[in-house]
Order: sequence, then structure tokens, then C-alpha cells
Amino acid sequence: MTHTTAQLQTWDKQYVWHPFTQMQDWLADDPIVIVKGEGSWLIDSDGNRYLDGVASMWTNVHGHSHPELNRALAEQAAKIEHSTLLGLAGEQSILLAKRLVEITPPGLTRVFYSDNGSTAVEVGLKMAYQYHCHRGEPQRTRFLRLQHAYHGDTVGAMSVGGIPIYHATFSPLLFSTIEAPAPYCYRCPLGKDDPAACGMACLGELERLVQEHRGELAGMMLEPLLQGAGGMIVHPRGYLRGVRELCDRYGLLLITDEVATGFGRTGRMFACEHEEVSPDIMAISKGLCAGYLPLAATLATEKIYGAFLGNYAELKTFFHGHTFTGNPLACAVALKSLELFEENSLLAAVRQRSEQLALRLARLAQHPQVGNVRQCGLAAGVELVKGKHSKEPYPWEEKRGIRVCVAARKHGVFSRPLGNTVVVFPPLAISAAELDSLLTGLERAIGEVCGDG
Ligand SMILES: *Cc1c(COP(=O)(O)O)cnc(C)c1O
Repeated sequence: MTHTTAQLQTWDKQYVWHPFTQMQDWLADDPIVIVKGEGSWLIDSDGNRYLDGVASMWTNVHGHSHPELNRALAEQAAKIEHSTLLGLAGEQSILLAKRLVEITPPGLTRVFYSDNGSTAVEVGLKMAYQYHCHRGEPQRTRFLRLQHAYHGDTVGAMSVGGIPIYHATFSPLLFSTIEAPAPYCYRCPLGKDDPAACGMACLGELERLVQEHRGELAGMMLEPLLQGAGGMIVHPRGYLRGVRELCDRYGLLLITDEVATGFGRTGRMFACEHEEVSPDIMAISKGLCAGYLPLAATLATEKIYGAFLGNYAELKTFFHGHTFTGNPLACAVALKSLELFEENSLLAAVRQRSEQLALRLARLAQHPQVGNVRQCGLAAGVELVKGKHSKEPYPWEEKRGIRVCVAARKHGVFSRPLGNTVVVFPPLAISAAELDSLLTGLERAIGEVCGDG
């Protein structure tokens, strides 16, 4: 039975509490109700079509309702939908783990499954801490993290987060971490205004913090190359490598969070590849299952895995696990997705689309209300400002980002901003023509909300 749009909207407002949403605003408006997806398009209950400008919260890879992924899902469902990894092994989780070890940066050899980005991060934090315990250094309880960092919304993941508007309310509940300056060159926290001349002073400051906290540090949590939720902040080339070298020099574990950057988003399979960095621990989720099902994993090196081996009574076991760990449906879809990467030469296509995106962004950068454009592969942020030369931000209460996204809907584009930063984060398989319309839609919306310049 199908329901009318009005009925669905009424029930949504009556029953659903939406994430990161002021429900009072939500209730004042009629939501778009999505009933269908086709490639890069979302289709609502009235048949309107929108380009999916945020890849359904940064998860979509090959497009919506992809026939081959649908088939892989149906075939697996006909075999078994779920069995546990507590006490049993599973065909699909074995095959996927083998494949993940093959394609992730060298040195990562073990795969620990969970079901979302936050849990993958939590697993990384607990793994890192327990590793130090096993090596007789239980005092290593603290983690370094960046300003503007986002690693998820569970309590541990928030503790390594650095976005005040999300995290400040909960700060009394969080464990204490050490904040390092973000390599956010447009608004350099160290007040350097020339990224070519500063010699990455932020790395120097990071080293000072490492020295200051030496004996108590377990590791550093980092989104490599691109801080997504913090505002699509793109790090200068060499920063990641610099962090890796610092971690090596001071015996810290480097935990990279590739939840947003993993699976082709940056033009390589993983962001770490751009700087030939291998982390000690790596969290992956969003693109892993191509946007189909909640699936995540935390990969670790043999050295870390080995530290957990011992007699039962030594209690070296990694005491962590989630009910849906290694879910066969999700693993089967993830495996098929990785096959499609090869079959469709998707990474090469992403690099082409990224060049196309760069050209359009260069034009957008001329707009008087665009302060900065930042791009990493097929992810970009367009930071809107009140004053181009002063870099004065629009007051957040003006909701410029949100207003641009609302205006974009009339042009057939769905997007979601990060504060005053307009986001471009389409399905990786988006066509050249679709990417063009997406950018035209956003450009028009920016003109309508911030003036045509
Ligand atoms: C989205 C995101 C997370 C959290 O993932 P959830 O699945 O929403 O818990 C963690 N880290 C990064 C970098 C992300 O972009």
C-alpha cells in the first residue's frame, strides 16, 4: 500500500526525531520524503528528482539501487542474513577481511568488524590503549587530536572530537584529550597567513605537545588529508607524513580515521596512499558498504594484534564486540562493491570528475561571498563569508549554508552544509553531466542567497 505525501509527512512529524536537527524548525516545514533512488538521483514521494549532493551522508559510491549490488544482497539473503562472529566464522566476513588487507596500506593485517564510523573509532581507541597496557605502559591514557576533528558521536569518539558546537555540551562526560592546532590554512590557528612560508608551524606545535605529554600519550587520532565534518578542511601536502614521522619518533600509535576519505573519495582507494603513510590502526566505514548497510571495520598491524595474544588467564583478550559484527549481507555487498571499483575503473573516473570539479570551483572562488574553496578528490567545501578580504564569517544565526541548500532544491539538488560551508560530496560514480548540473544548481543557489556579485 502506498501512502500520500501528506500522510507520510504528518507521521514523520509525529513520530520521527531527526539527527542533528532542531525539531521545532523541522516541524514548521514539510519534509521531502524520499521513496526511491536511481544512480545519483533521489526521488521523492511526489516524483521530484534531486541530485544526491552529499552521497546520502557520504556513503554512496556506485549510485543508488545499483542492480549488481542489489543482486549480491538478494543472493546473500537467500543463503543467510546473519550469524555471529562470537564463536563462529562466516564466509563473507572472511572473504571481505582478506580483500581489505590486500587493498589497505601495507602493514595493516588484521580486521576487526563493527557497524558504524563511531564504533570503528571507539574500537581503535580501546585497541590502542589496551596495546600499551599489554606492553606494561598503562599510564598511556591520553590521545592527541586536532581542532575541528570529527570522529563520531559516541562518548569516546566525541572525546577525540574538536567541534565545539557538537561536543561542548557533553564535555563533562568526555575523557580528556590533547588538542593540536588544525592545519586549516585559510584560518590558521597560529596566525600564519602564508602556507608556502610557514614551514608547517602546526607540525612544530604538535611536536611541542608530544614532548610536553610524552609519557602519557597513547596515540594520535587523525582524519588524513581531509577533515570532513569540521568544514571540508584540506590539509597541506606533507602534513600527514609529518604526523607519521612524529609518531614514529616518539613511539605513538597513529590511528587514522578514513571513515569519510576511504574507498576512493580522494582519488586513491585510501587517503593515506597519497603520502605513502601506513597507520598503526585505521577506521573505515561510510563507503565500505557502498551506502547500502551499516558496516565498519578497524584494521590493525600484526604488532598490535600480536600484543593481545596470550594464555586465556592472562586476560589479554580484546574485550569488545558488537551484535551485528561482520554481518553477511553487508559483507557480501562490500565485496561486490570492491569488484565494481575494478570493473568500472572507478578510481580513474573519480580523478576525472575531480578535475572537472576543480575547474568549476575555481570559477566559484571568484564570487564575492566565497572566501575559500577547498577540494580533496571528489569532496569539496565552499566557505561563504560576509567579507571576502576580511574573511569575516557570516553570523551563524543567519544560516547561510542551510539557506543555500534549501534554495538548491528548486534546482534539483539536495545538499547539506557544514555551517557556512557548502558541501560537494556526490556519489563517486556520478556522471560528468550530472556533476555539472549539481554545481550549476549550487552556484545558482549561492547567487540567490548571497547575491550574484
Ligand atoms: C561520519 C564520520 C564518523 C562517524 O561515523 P558514523 O557512522 O556516523 O558513526 C567518524 N569519522 C569520520 C571522519 C566521519 O566522517
